[in-house]
Amino acid sequence: MIVITGATGQLGRLVIDGLLEKVPAERVAAVVRDRDRAADLAARGVQLRIADYDRPETLRDAFRAGEKVLLISGTEAGRRVPQHTAVVDAARRAGVALLAYTSVLGGPEADFLLADDHRETERVILGSGLPHVLLRNGWYHENYTGQLATALEHGAVLGSAGEGRIASASRADFAAAAVAVLTGEGHENRAYELSGDVAWSLAEYAAEVTRLSGREVVYRELPPAAYQEVLVGAGVPEPMAAILVDVDAAIARGRLAGTSGDLRRLIGRPTTPLADAIAAALKG
Ligand code: NDP
Repeated sequence: MIVITGATGQLGRLVIDGLLEKVPAERVAAVVRDRDRAADLAARGVQLRIADYDRPETLRDAFRAGEKVLLISGTEAGRRVPQHTAVVDAARRAGVALLAYTSVLGGPEADFLLADDHRETERVILGSGLPHVLLRNGWYHENYTGQLATALEHGAVLGSAGEGRIASASRADFAAAAVAVLTGEGHENRAYELSGDVAWSLAEYAAEVTRLSGREVVYRELPPAAYQEVLVGAGVPEPMAAILVDVDAAIARGRLAGTSGDLRRLIGRPTTPLADAIAAALKG
């Protein structure tokens, strides 16, 4: 059995789609916190297990001996270490055969706020003694193309990343890597630095949006404090705005630029070009 947590999320759904192309539905289980939101998965024959990272007692029956588990990292920065620890503990008690985890590009070297929970979770996983795979995911194209309407409206992409480059890939590429690891052999106790084949700067991103949309969009570099102010003014909660500004500082230091080729090797094809993601977002 292959078990996916966070299965009603965007990455989780793509992983389930990919798994169902390779293995029968009765070999796939989804750990979700809301049964209703997973009704479509159940209709496709996927087994549902209801559990919440915040309630360790619900995780007790989430896994069985010998299963391969993908722990998809939670969404609440700062709370994820206890959440993930609860999942790792439950997986260890059950005696799963493999625990894969969606970590962050760079792993122990990732020195930015958003990476703190991932670094600590990696330590918890290593300490558990479980056979594991660290899927150190870089940035999704969708982190940027998800904001395309705003960029087009203002004719600008704002940031404080300087000329730092981002080797992003599509969410579907990262999902395909997880599927490859969960359905393949020989991945035990390995860490993969997963990123796109091409690293680009925010100025290049703006230029690509201009080319594909026919509307001029420029990259406007702001000092970190000014960028933070703009984000808060646009309704981003202050702690999240601080995290996003910190991410741009990490980009400026080159922390999300690595192009190891691990992702293309795992998925057996080039990663999705940024232009394709922009074009898809323009189509809406
Ligand atoms: P989503 O927000 O679409 O999905 C997150 C999933 O985590 C959801 O299924 C959600 O459950 C589940 N989840 C959150 N909290 C809990 C909890 N307490 N108990 C059980 N499940 C929980 O994110 P994505 O699928 O796009 O991305 C997956 C993860 O990757 C994110 O959670 C985040 O850690 C990370 N990420 C990485 C990015 C990158 O660029 N590399 C960008 C954005 C996120 P529910 O469906 O019930 O809400």
